[in-house]
Amino acid sequence: MARDSKYDILFEPVTIGPKTLKNRFYQVPHCNGAGSEKPGMQAYNRGMKAEGGWAAVCTEYCSIHPESDDIMRVSARIWDDEDARNLSVMCDKAHEHGALAGIELWYGGPHAPCMESRHQPRGPFQIASEFEINTYPRYMDADDIRLVQRYYVDAAIRARQAGFDIVYVYGAHSYLPLQFLSPYYNKRTDAYGGSFDNRARFWRETLEKVREAVGDDCAIASRFAVDTLYGGSGVQVGTDGVRFVEHADHLVDLWDLNVGDIAEWGQDAGPSRFFPENHQKPYIEPIRAGNHTNKPVVGVGRVTSPDTMVKVIQSGQLDIIGAARPSISDPFLPRKIEEGRLDDIRECIGCNVCISRWEIGGPPLICTQNATAGEEYRRGWHPEKYSPAANADKSVLVVGAGPAGMECAMVLGKRGMSAVHLVEAAPEIGGSVNWISLLGHGDGKENLFRGTARGLGNWKHIVTYRTIQLDKLKNVEVHTGTRLSTAEVRDYGAEIVVIATGCHWARDGMNSATHEPIAGADPAADWQVTPDEVVLGTKTVGPRVLVLENEGYFMGVSVAQKLAGEGHDVTLVTQASDVGSYMEFTLEAPMMHRDLHRLGVHLYPSTMVERLDPGHVTAYNVWNPEHKEHFDVDTVVMCTGRVSDDELYRELKADPAALRAAGVENAYLIGDAAAPRMIADSIFDGHRLAREIDAPDPAIPLPFIRERRIWGEVTNKDYEDQLRG
Ligand code: SF4
Repeated sequence: MARDSKYDILFEPVTIGPKTLKNRFYQVPHCNGAGSEKPGMQAYNRGMKAEGGWAAVCTEYCSIHPESDDIMRVSARIWDDEDARNLSVMCDKAHEHGALAGIELWYGGPHAPCMESRHQPRGPFQIASEFEINTYPRYMDADDIRLVQRYYVDAAIRARQAGFDIVYVYGAHSYLPLQFLSPYYNKRTDAYGGSFDNRARFWRETLEKVREAVGDDCAIASRFAVDTLYGGSGVQVGTDGVRFVEHADHLVDLWDLNVGDIAEWGQDAGPSRFFPENHQKPYIEPIRAGNHTNKPVVGVGRVTSPDTMVKVIQSGQLDIIGAARPSISDPFLPRKIEEGRLDDIRECIGCNVCISRWEIGGPPLICTQNATAGEEYRRGWHPEKYSPAANADKSVLVVGAGPAGMECAMVLGKRGMSAVHLVEAAPEIGGSVNWISLLGHGDGKENLFRGTARGLGNWKHIVTYRTIQLDKLKNVEVHTGTRLSTAEVRDYGAEIVVIATGCHWARDGMNSATHEPIAGADPAADWQVTPDEVVLGTKTVGPRVLVLENEGYFMGVSVAQKLAGEGHDVTLVTQASDVGSYMEFTLEAPMMHRDLHRLGVHLYPSTMVERLDPGHVTAYNVWNPEHKEHFDVDTVVMCTGRVSDDELYRELKADPAALRAAGVENAYLIGDAAAPRMIADSIFDGHRLAREIDAPDPAIPLPFIRERRIWGEVTNKDYEDQLRG
């Protein structure tokens, strides 16, 4: 199909200085865990997006010197020619597909703890970082300023040599250039502090020097948070935001504009549970609308709808559609719009699980929606191409159509298996996502700062994308409302069986804190409920509720938010020192904390339930078990542990002779039925099994390329050649 002409505007070229973007799709800098030390992953991850139609692909933040070292997290680095050589592979991959390659030159100031290099970061003023612990910068005198500007120039020259087309002087997320500009960081009284002109001087001079060094060959970009959201103590769009764009407009070829800082950068990478698509519009639009720049502007806001993209361009809000998460979830987003295949778009759900891996520090990029993200090089996976399975003549029965089962059946179908039957006991496919996506609305009112509790409705894209894909596959049949017994599975007629029957919440209170059931836990008690029962309304919840939250991620807090929003008096108890701790990594935590406070939820961190009695809960402080807490409640929500529903698999496995007699070659266990984990992990598990269904033993994942130094070896080329044939 050809593209709809209403989207033509998205495919117009845009000139940025000496370079031209072939269309308006631009992968802004975002972390992927590759840095400069996993050049294969870096190149293939960005290269895949270039192949998918993005006109530019950028590195993540790229350190320009050991003084800006962010270990334990993974940044790119361009400290020397060897780093440049590693990054040059990414440039080659981008160019192969007609895309430009961008590099985001980064100096962190006090936000660079320098744990590997042991250097001292320099900063405009000696105030400890609000993001890192106990990290102070060294005050920059005039010599230091010249020195750091030299670092930028040296890095820019190396970047040009590596083949980069776009060179950023990165000042968003409260890094060094913005630290000079913002009075929140800059308390200087010399020529680099005080007045706007003085505070802007460092950034302006650095742009001048970088432009002079490489501006004839490379487009110069700057990422700028036009509003740091601190009010008058930081940068505000209506004052310094607009002023700086006007001040430095002649020095850049492209503005990459956003909002927020590093300590709460979820205001920029807004999770869908608090922010709608294009949520940065109120801050970015005034720059263009007020004619404050003559240069192209790129911006973000998890824009996934092609119609929204058109509006964003036509309204003059932006010239270029920037994307980080939408490009991770679907590297082929531009190509699909161009080819009129909108229903094939794998839409980002805004869960921020991708970000969580970088925040944790080091593991490669993952994505809930796109199991191939980060696997392009090391496993050789392509998000849109599937090799025919060597055993494609076999028939497969997948039991359970939750995230793992849906993904597995879809990939098996795309690999051309002769017949794939996906059989689900519930009336609809989707598994736990169907009720999870109903969570998180609270009372739907505004947060205490920015963002509104919008709920997890966008997570339903997990189901809709796979439903559409499964419908298109002629070799896949989906049967719902069908619960198969062990004998029925065995006698179904399939040669390969995959069990993806999910998991359930523990009803005896077995939990990660004590590794024991909880005294008084009783599945038959109508006043004890599990999260799914709350959402589905299968048990009644009384006015006074205690939520026992042992999970550490979104479930307990989401249930508390829902019930408090409905008017219940809610107490939340967790053994952890903070509620929903993993949400720190997904950037949802600050907004969630504000919402729970606004809703009046009573929080008891470092507290564990000791026993449950009708109408009463006894708990203790985990640091002093003698210190008891007593709660009079009507209902207890048991968000404790989860338990795999693996009986079917265990029974099949217990009788291999019967399996063989029925013609079943093998049975596999995937997703939560194997081990309850995140949705992203379940989807990956289903995808992995289907990708390797023709491997010698599909139950055991094939090895992947590990980009590492091997003593005495220069490269792992032989292994790569073997993998790629
Ligand atoms: Fe989007 Fe979630 Fe994938 Fe990140 S992990 S790209 S937020 S779907």
